[in-house]
This record gives sequence, C-alpha cells and structure tokens, in this order.
Amino acid sequence: MSTVKLEEIVSLAKRRGFVFQASEIYGGLAGFWDYGPLGVELANRIKAEWWSAMVTDKDNVFGIDGAIIQNPNLWKASGHVAGFTDPLVDCTNCGARHRADHLADTDSTDLEELTELLKGKSCPKCGKQSLTKPRTYNMMMKTWVGPIEDASSVAYLRPETAGSIFINYENVRETMRAKLPFGIAQIGKAFRNEISPRDFIFRAREFEQMEMQYFINPDDQEKSYQDWRDFAWKFLTASLGIKADSLEWHQHAENERAHYAANAHDIYFKFPFGSKELWGTHNRTDFDLSNHSKESKKDLSYFDEQTKSRFIPYVIESSVGLDRMFLAVLTDAYHEEEINGEKRVVLKLKPELAPYRFAVSPLLKNKAELVEKASELFKALKKKHGNVIWDDNGNIGKRYRRQDEIGTPNCITVDFQSLEDDTVTIRDRDTTEQKRISISELI
Ligand code: ATP
Repeated sequence: MSTVKLEEIVSLAKRRGFVFQASEIYGGLAGFWDYGPLGVELANRIKAEWWSAMVTDKDNVFGIDGAIIQNPNLWKASGHVAGFTDPLVDCTNCGARHRADHLADTDSTDLEELTELLKGKSCPKCGKQSLTKPRTYNMMMKTWVGPIEDASSVAYLRPETAGSIFINYENVRETMRAKLPFGIAQIGKAFRNEISPRDFIFRAREFEQMEMQYFINPDDQEKSYQDWRDFAWKFLTASLGIKADSLEWHQHAENERAHYAANAHDIYFKFPFGSKELWGTHNRTDFDLSNHSKESKKDLSYFDEQTKSRFIPYVIESSVGLDRMFLAVLTDAYHEEEINGEKRVVLKLKPELAPYRFAVSPLLKNKAELVEKASELFKALKKKHGNVIWDDNGNIGKRYRRQDEIGTPNCITVDFQSLEDDTVTIRDRDTTEQKRISISELI
C-alpha cells in the first residue's frame, strides 16, 4: 500500500485546482467529480500520451468516438441488461446499501458464498447486525429517448466504451480496408450506478475510460495477450513514469472473471487504500462479435485470404480508467520532504505531464524593469511551450512552494543580474538546485 494518505491527495487536489466535488455548492452528489484548471491539463496530457502510444504510433489501431447512448439492443447482446450486476446488501436498520463482496472482503460475487461469508457481520454504518441476504443489482444508468417515458423508449448511458467499438468493427474494417490483426481504440465517458462510490475518483458513477479492442485470428491469442499485457506495463512505467514498485500483476481467478473472458490480468496500483485494479487486459474470445452477429443478424465473420478460412475474430481487450490513472499518477508523484528544516510538498510528475512546464517570475513585482524583462521571457516561452505560468505572488520562497505542489519542473526568476547579462536563474523542482543560464540557451 502507498504510505501517502488519501486525505492529503484529496486536499491537494482541491487546494490547487485539480479536482473538485461536483455540485459542491449544493452539497455535492456522491460519485461525481469535476476536474479543475490544473486537473484538466494533467488529464489531457495523460489522454494524449495514451492516444499516441495506442493509436498514432501504431499502423493498425484506429480511433473512434462513439455515442454515449446507443440502441439498447447493444446492451442486450453484450449481456449487460441481464448481467451487469454487483452483489448488494441492505441494512434494515439504517437503510444503507453496501457492496456485499467488499463487505465480505472477497473477489467472489457468488451469492451463496457471499451469504456464508457475511454471516454475523454488522452494518459498517450503524453497527447493527441487520443486513439482508445479498442480491444482485444492475448498475446501468437508465434514461428515455424521445418525449414518451415508457418501456419502449428506455435507453442506457453506456457502462463501458467497448460496446460502440464492437458494433463499429465492420465499419472500421471496411473503411480502413483493415486486415487482422487490427485494433479500435476509444476514449470517453462511461456511467455506472455504483452501490457505494468511494475512494475519491477511484470508484465514481461517471468516469472516463480508455479502451482498445484488438481483433485477431484465434490462433494468435496467446502472443497477442502477452503483447498487450507488456504494452500496459510499459506505458505506465515509461510513458507515465510510475514506479514499477507501485504496481503489481493480478490474474483473475475463475470466480472473479467476467462470463466472457478466457483469461484476465489486471495491473494493480498500490493506492493509499490498498492495492487495487487500475488496468485490465482480457481475452474476450469471440463472445462479443458472435453475440452482436446473432442479435443484429449481420454476419460479422472474417474471411482470411491466406488460409482461405472464415471465422469470428477473437478480441484481446486493453481497458483502463482515466480517473484511476490520474489518481495513480498523483499518488505516485506525491512527496513530503524536509529541506533545511522546512517541510515541502512536491509533485514529482514526469515533466511532460506537469500542468505547467515552466513558471516565470520577476524577483520583485514592484520593479518595472524586472517585470518587463520577465514578461518578455514569459511570452517567448509561452509561444514555444504553451503551458507556462506567470507567478509573481508573494515572495520567491512561497512561489517555489506553490509550484512544487503543482509539479512545475522548473521555476525561472529574472533578477537584477538578468538586466546586465541576459541570464536568469532556473530552479529544479526535484533537487531544488538553482543555476544561472542564459536566456538564449533557455529558449
Ligand atoms: P471494479 O472491479 O473495480 O469495479 P471492473 O472490473 O468492473 O472494476 P472494468 O469493467 O474492467 O472494471 O472497467 C475497466 C476499467 O474502468 C477499470 O480497470 C477501471 O480502471 C475503470 N473503472 C471501472 N469502474 C470504475 C469506476 N466506478 N470509477 C472509475 N473507474 C472505473
């Protein structure tokens, strides 16, 4: 488990404009969060890294952006209408609802097993032994399409982005003249009516997913599965700079695996509240395309010209939540240190991910010549890098502490010597060392 406390991350996220409670002025809404000015920058950079590694850098993975609401038959075929459930227990004393598997501290969702494990347990909210037997509960969020609210107009907010990928398999294959193996990737919102949203943005009711479905010849399943597991690990450690020690593999046991999956490996991140699922790689076999073929009555089989055979492609899925990745990046980067007897909080983010690459300050904000020179430099750096911040609030020590907390890799200060020799000081966030550098070299 991470030694960082979740309260510290939540407090920093709020204090510095990363994440706010949604509808805060109305008392909030459980399971919903708003990303603030710095949060949206960090989230966008994570998404951009994922998109370039997953789509732009590859020749055979294509992006789409599907609708959030689709024909409800999609969710019938995928098994979500019948089976997208979590086990739930109610407390007959205080009315609280809990995830039965979480309460029993198990990965199993088998109702009989859970009933056994929950014998003698009390409600964590009121402490009374008044829990009902576990039952299943569908997590899809419902809405109505059109003016009449009846059974025929029911639709669902997508519970995962994968659905619109499967139903666009044929469109993408045809328009891109794609041959197996090829992938379809998507970033977008997903909605689940989680029984007990908790642990900040880890378990929300509205969240964002980054998913890729790789369509393959079944003969290639072992190799492809391993390749996509390697991809996920490499992305987290190399592209996002997360420490390998903060991650671990978890293979799903039989009773934990989704009904369609032949194999499933998650990468767990050591969050402040325990080691938990961050990114899943799943072998979904031909489950999805077969079911959509049956439900839609469209032939989704593939003719392989080399072997002159026809089959339904298998799918290896790579699925990760952006919000969980965001929380993992923040947690991994969060450090409290003592420097010269003073405590500082510093986010040691990979420079490419930091909301601001540079902060520019005049040493004193009431000296016009310093301000003028600093603002020229600020404009030049902003033109080149975009994400540069101007900071002339408080003394230099305060500015450094503020920039450390938001993970700005370098602070640049224009002082009196700058006016004479066109040099500035550049301070390194991680070592706190400062050195002089010429402005031309810096730009
Ligand atoms: P869990 O067991 O934690 O509920 P899951 O196994 O249902 O997750 P998947 O259906 O595999 O999750 O979803 C793919 C990814 O989407 C997960 O690995 C996770 O990163 C993210 N995710 C799932 N549910 C949530 C949620 N409620 N809030 C934020 N992210 C989520």
